[in-house]
Amino acid sequence: MTNKQSFDNWIDGAFVAPASGARMDTINPYSGEAWAEVADDPDAVDVAVQAARRAFADGPWATMPARERAGLMRKLGEALSRDADELAAAETRDNGKIIRETTAQAKSLESYLDYFAGMADKIVGQQIPAPSTNFLVYTERVPKGVVGAIIPWNSPLALLTWKLGPLLAAGCTVVVKPSDLTPVTALMLAERATEVGFPPGVINVVTGAAGVGAAISSHPGIDKLTFTGGGPTAKHVARAAAENLTPAVLELGGKSPQILFADADIEAATNGLLAGIFAASGQTCVAGSRAYIHADILDDVVGRLVARAGQLVLGDPSDVATEMGPAASDDQRDRIIAMIDAAKAEGGTIAAGGVVDPDLGGRFVRPTVITDVDNQCSIVREEVFGPVLAIMSFTDEDEVVKLANDSDYGLAAGVWTNDIRRGHRMARSLNVGTVWINTYRNVSYMAPFGGFKQSGYGKDNGLEALDAFLQTKTVWVELEGATRDPFVIG
Ligand code: NAD
Repeated sequence: MTNKQSFDNWIDGAFVAPASGARMDTINPYSGEAWAEVADDPDAVDVAVQAARRAFADGPWATMPARERAGLMRKLGEALSRDADELAAAETRDNGKIIRETTAQAKSLESYLDYFAGMADKIVGQQIPAPSTNFLVYTERVPKGVVGAIIPWNSPLALLTWKLGPLLAAGCTVVVKPSDLTPVTALMLAERATEVGFPPGVINVVTGAAGVGAAISSHPGIDKLTFTGGGPTAKHVARAAAENLTPAVLELGGKSPQILFADADIEAATNGLLAGIFAASGQTCVAGSRAYIHADILDDVVGRLVARAGQLVLGDPSDVATEMGPAASDDQRDRIIAMIDAAKAEGGTIAAGGVVDPDLGGRFVRPTVITDVDNQCSIVREEVFGPVLAIMSFTDEDEVVKLANDSDYGLAAGVWTNDIRRGHRMARSLNVGTVWINTYRNVSYMAPFGGFKQSGYGKDNGLEALDAFLQTKTVWVELEGATRDPFVIG
């Protein structure tokens, strides 16, 4: 047992203890140890919103030239790269994700901040044609104001940075709530922002559970919400936001199909399926959790998947040799097992896994492959957020398009085929936010990311992510005295 660390909220450029003194533990899901405790006080949200408002309206951030803002973003990126190993270790301790992935994510943060820093001094309005030469009409793109950012536990730093890049470039300030399961790395990031010169109040972090999230979603001083998480929570957020007419970006879950045609490169497709569902123990929004495999290759592919699922190296996520870590919490493990049991009750056959590993301390669900299910089964319709792949077959393209689109979700899809025309036809037909052809799970700061249908609305990443944090102001100037009837509009 190591010494438990204690963290306060980060508000106005410093650690601030919660007035109520309320705290909660954060657990290392691999060891089961409470390795740190953090503040859990919803009343701290108001203090943080006031700090963010002062920074937005009165502080140096408000008048800082865009180029200087960009410079700070780049310096923050450099500090995060410098400390990537420390950040990755904390993240793995918090959510049990394998160190290879948390390190790669920590090292990628700089490129996201750099990309959006490049936009800061390219935010331009337009000169609008006027109804008469006596008028000058133009628009300005101005920042929304104070943003509330609510983040999940599966990729805390990466998903936070996806929000910070565009909102800081736009000139907004922010109150961040990381997940109660992974609160520490957001605090570490905010501390580094102050170290590199961000003015106090620009980035504030309030840790805690649902009460803190609810206090952010319902706070009338927040001008824009950006949320990544599950659909049921998103509905609470959207309802609270509606009370104040606060606009929101919602990045939600998925039930993403992976479609294998008989002409695909079977080896590459099998790798793609395995990585798509077992990377991050299936705890990723884009998990390719339902596979549609052409009947001609079904037995071959299922055989390969079952064999490979059995060979994956499970164990200590901080060991670089480990390929799959634990579920992030006991609740998460119980939910995954309950969904596997429901699949069995609905007629599914467990071809691989289906159980908690008996030798690894109780939080590892073995990589699971389920056959004999169809689109009506709960395991095919509901997000598991665990290492569970449901397999079905099809015989023609129209049929599989219907099956793939028959889902409440629309986050992403994978298509495996060597027929270039078919690949593009499929991309056009699939009702999802991202289609990967002969690849899976790629993301980039340059490529817009976000779902259709119950997978949410708004985009992270890409040029359009910036729009969420800007609003358009129109300015009319009459150039020479009064030239029109002031009592008539137009
Ligand atoms: P969650 O919805 O349980 O929690 C998300 C965040 O909301 C956490 O910070 C949580 O503390 C907070 N929260 C809880 N109750 C709240 C309330 N009433 N009001 C406001 N905030 C509240 O999600 P999770 O379990 O942390 O993450 C898993 C989910 O996130 C999955 O559904 C996954 O698909 C989704 N996800 C989506 C994306 C994407 O970009 N589309 C990326 C990663 C994860």
